[in-house]
Amino acid sequence: MIPAVTIEHSVIVGLDDIKAVIFECRGCKTRLVMSPDSASIPHHCPKQNCDVMWLSGKASGITNDYEGTSSAFLNLISAIEFLRKRNGGFRVLFEFRDERSASSS
Ligand SMILES: [Zn+2]
Repeated sequence: MIPAVTIEHSVIVGLDDIKAVIFECRGCKTRLVMSPDSASIPHHCPKQNCDVMWLSGKASGITNDYEGTSSAFLNLISAIEFLRKRNGGFRVLFEFRDERSASSS
């Protein structure tokens, strides 16, 4: 008997590869699409009559390598914008599982 072989595919992307940042309301599923270079998260869902609060608190504003954090979401978006404009000694890459993984036997 020949054992099944699973082939995994993955996708590696860098911050420069991010085309858009998409925020989706957990309540009404409304999506807000923004450029990663100028994204800002609204405090409430932008859809009228949806009461879901998206954020409380303010961004710390990342302007250098040593800024503190106050909100993980705000700082993630702010950090993406900051790091995309910066040429450091390394790149940040994200690897995603490719759900089209094939298996054969
Ligand atoms: Zn909503």
